[in-house]
Amino acid sequence: MIRLAVGAVLAAGVALAAYRARALSLDGAIAAFVVGTIVVATGGWSSAAVLLAFFLPSALLTRMGRERKRSLRGTHEPAPRTAWQVLANGGVATLCAVAALGASAPFNAAFAGAFAAASADTWATEIGTLARRRPVSILTFRPIETGLSGSVTLLGTCAMIAGALCVAVVASLLRVAPLLPVAAAGIAGALLDSIVGAGLQARQWCPRCSCECETPQHYCGTPTTMRRGVRWIQNDAVNLMATLCGAIVAAALVVR
Ligand SMILES: [Zn+2]
Repeated sequence: MIRLAVGAVLAAGVALAAYRARALSLDGAIAAFVVGTIVVATGGWSSAAVLLAFFLPSALLTRMGRERKRSLRGTHEPAPRTAWQVLANGGVATLCAVAALGASAPFNAAFAGAFAAASADTWATEIGTLARRRPVSILTFRPIETGLSGSVTLLGTCAMIAGALCVAVVASLLRVAPLLPVAAAGIAGALLDSIVGAGLQARQWCPRCSCECETPQHYCGTPTTMRRGVRWIQNDAVNLMATLCGAIVAAALVVR
């Protein structure tokens, strides 16, 4: 009971700080508060540390290289993460944390694997965007726009592995789950994210800038039209699939 109360206060503090730093929108901060409180209440402090091993570097990396990202994105700052984005990245892990109360080993691994996938994907995106070389599509190996889902660079791939390891190392040091299954799950989830992002995700076209993007409105302010992909498969759905993949792979490797 004391753990729940202290956990709720700490989760509120982190969510509020992220809100004030414009890393989270108001509904995103509320979702992060709920996720954090459930994780502390069910998994304890070590699980909370695994959550932070995903969340803190991701929030910092999003702010890294702002000038270059701004020039790629136009004049706009990156939008604060919404509740849907928080749940797409943290929802599967939160359910696993609750399920771990019943069967701990596989669901603890799934919990860490889901965050490892979210972390690997975020690191790959935020660091890979800064690569000087033009990225290629993971499916066709042809050059595509920087920052689109499914674009890969050497730098981004190294960052993806580092992002998976960051969560896996914390999870194994605190005995939440073993290192290699969690790291492998994170990499598998991020790869799935890239493949689905390249192959199925809805892709929009900005007629003014003659380039592809993933939002109904381009950074330049021009409304975009659907060009290809599946309309309902947007970024959040892809992230949800990736974290689910991370959870399943980690659990499968642990019970094997
Ligand atoms: Zn445009």
